[in-house]
Amino acid sequence: MHLYCCRCGHHPLDHGVPEGDTHERLTCSACGHVYYDNPKVIAGAIIEHEGRLLLCQRGIPPRVGTWTLPAGFMERGESVEEAAQREVMEETGIDAEILTPYSIFSVPPTNELYIIYRARLREWRASPGHETLDVKWFHPGDIPWDEIFYPAIRQILERYIDEHAGGTYGIYSGSMEGGTIHFMR
Ligand SMILES: [Zn+2]
Repeated sequence: MHLYCCRCGHHPLDHGVPEGDTHERLTCSACGHVYYDNPKVIAGAIIEHEGRLLLCQRGIPPRVGTWTLPAGFMERGESVEEAAQREVMEETGIDAEILTPYSIFSVPPTNELYIIYRARLREWRASPGHETLDVKWFHPGDIPWDEIFYPAIRQILERYIDEHAGGTYGIYSGSMEGGTIHFMR
């Protein structure tokens, strides 16, 4: 990731466990700077409008043409709710009202944390951005399950559709084990 120290320009950086630390880090032996490679947060939303759910069709690799929920990396200086709202706007052109967290899951192999909110349509403002081929509202019966690549996204949608009948939604947390996400109740 870093070849030269971003603080002092020293090269190369070292791998090791800094004194008093518990994990191996990239460190600079010249100035002592420690590079913390913490997991990245991906914020997204499951957006409902008049009983239909919003999916976007990926326009950029990986897996162009598959359908998924709008989601993306949180930026510095924003809250996770702002990140979810911004990603929805960028990928779908929709101004969504972010409601409550719905699914929180960790993917340790890729150092990612996903936080998916429930949301509802406030206004359809623009056409989707270049990362999206298409955006569609699906009735639960019309969801193209075979074209949704990520099992975790399918699990989230299935549960949401189940809960929709009763109108009460849980908040679920999970983690990837053996290649699939296991949600705890
Ligand atoms: Zn340095």
